[in-house]
Amino acid sequence: MTAGFFEAPRAAEFALRNVRVPATLAPGAVAPATQDGHLDVDIAIASGRIADIVPAGTIDVARGPDLRRSVVWPTFADVHTHLDKGHIWPRAANPDGTFFGALTTVMADRQANWNAADIEARFDFALRCAYAHGVSAVRTHLDSFSPQAEISWPVFAKLRDRWEGRIALQASSILAMDPFATGEGDRLADLVARHGGQLGCVTRLAGEDHVGVPANFDDYMTRVFELAEARGLDLDLHVDESGDPEARTMIRIARMAAKRKFKGAILMGHCCSLAVQPDEAIEATLAACAEARIDVVSLPMCNMYLQGREGGRTPRWRGVTLLHEMKARGMRVAVAGDNVRDPFYAYGDHDMLETFVQAVRILQLDHPMGDWPQAATTTPADIMKLPATGRIARGNPADLIVMRARSHSELLSRRQSDRVVLRDGMAIDTTLPDYRELDAIVGMK
Ligand SMILES: [Zn+2]
Repeated sequence: MTAGFFEAPRAAEFALRNVRVPATLAPGAVAPATQDGHLDVDIAIASGRIADIVPAGTIDVARGPDLRRSVVWPTFADVHTHLDKGHIWPRAANPDGTFFGALTTVMADRQANWNAADIEARFDFALRCAYAHGVSAVRTHLDSFSPQAEISWPVFAKLRDRWEGRIALQASSILAMDPFATGEGDRLADLVARHGGQLGCVTRLAGEDHVGVPANFDDYMTRVFELAEARGLDLDLHVDESGDPEARTMIRIARMAAKRKFKGAILMGHCCSLAVQPDEAIEATLAACAEARIDVVSLPMCNMYLQGREGGRTPRWRGVTLLHEMKARGMRVAVAGDNVRDPFYAYGDHDMLETFVQAVRILQLDHPMGDWPQAATTTPADIMKLPATGRIARGNPADLIVMRARSHSELLSRRQSDRVVLRDGMAIDTTLPDYRELDAIVGMK
């Protein structure tokens, strides 16, 4: 078992004394605040739940360790991942690091290798990484071209059952828009509904980049709305993932949702091109999205990796969408991990702390940090409709991450590899799975 920086009591009732919680992640807690927005508290745990959160120094010293102002976060929610693609890098490296290189490399690998056993091994490996890092909820997209959908969705269902109680697992379809013009759209929407998933697609046609607005876009998108409405499904879309200022499907989708009075939730991922559009276009899009109650998730590591990449030319922009402006308009905004060790992102480890740290740096979510910690915890949990996840509150499961750091500065400066993860009040084994386990599957020599 990997050693955390302290040994958590293995008892039904104990306390984490003298710890620090970001005030924004502990609704209802009342205690003296630090300059950088933490509350100094004692947390009482009983029968796997948070029994009380009181000012530091309140709880008797015999009831638990003095953690000397260590920071405690709730477990994370990762609302946008691709666990069916993860870890194929050794057998499917991106030849040039571009979006198009990713697209074609993944397509070839999918057709050659993605049987149920292959997907299950990589998917389960990914969940073990996420769990060890302190992630308790994950939504994955599943490549859902026929016949891949019939292979991948049953693997998801099996792993959702296997991981119940440890990681709340959700899934959304992802595929180009073309099949929605055929009977395949109905079959796929039925499959998604049967598995309790979200209906999703990318806002481009098969084999194309996110350049401009695809021909007949409104017809395709209308069909997606109709399929979702007929089955009461929410939407989870990959939108405008490029640096082309003419890629402007976001505003069209928002206006369509408002006009149709769409009752479901809509989560849009990426939305990169918005950041390179003129101010008037940005204003109009944000107004339409706020009115339609669109949620947005930014994927900062993947976006920075793919966007603005041209061989031999230094990238000139960060690739991320306008989270500050969206939040200022009252929209719910999150950050998520996206791809891990596949052609869309060569790196990553399903660690939402890393995602948050990178997001802070790439999107400047600091000075002040304010309520941005919610973007990796409370907000994605709310988007996933998990009201007891991603926040530290009395009565919630004691799903907590205790870190040696005492401030945002210390937290964001080191990896926190010795973090202690409590699930239902018990310290879990935070040993990460060994890459060697996947060698036979991904062809690592
Ligand atoms: Zn994605």
